[in-house]
Amino acid sequence: MYELKITTQFAAAHQLRDFEGDCEHLHGHNWKVDVYITGEELASNGLLIDFKVIKNETKRILDSLDHTFLNDLEPFKILNPSSENICRYIYKALSKKINQKNARLSKVTAWESDFACASYFEP
Ligand SMILES: [Zn+2]
Repeated sequence: MYELKITTQFAAAHQLRDFEGDCEHLHGHNWKVDVYITGEELASNGLLIDFKVIKNETKRILDSLDHTFLNDLEPFKILNPSSENICRYIYKALSKKINQKNARLSKVTAWESDFACASYFEP
């Protein structure tokens, strides 16, 4: 089994609803995002998938989140813009773009600080 990973980031503001704690107040994070691709067989050129494809497709999705107030965006108008829901949103959008015969998006992790992250994957 092979696994590829890219790391990228975006900055945004959010405010958690139904939550008592620091994150109920308007604030921002520089989210670091890890994207994992797995597959069992390489293409004839020895690659699982071109890193550029992963980077470009991930960038397109993160650009729509970057420097926004997440609560105002359609996916998070009702759904809380927690790190859990953010990585699920990225996973759902990205898997439609990336999944191929031999390479599959396996996990998206969103780090809201150097010490705390959430991941989403579908077994
Ligand atoms: Zn927060």
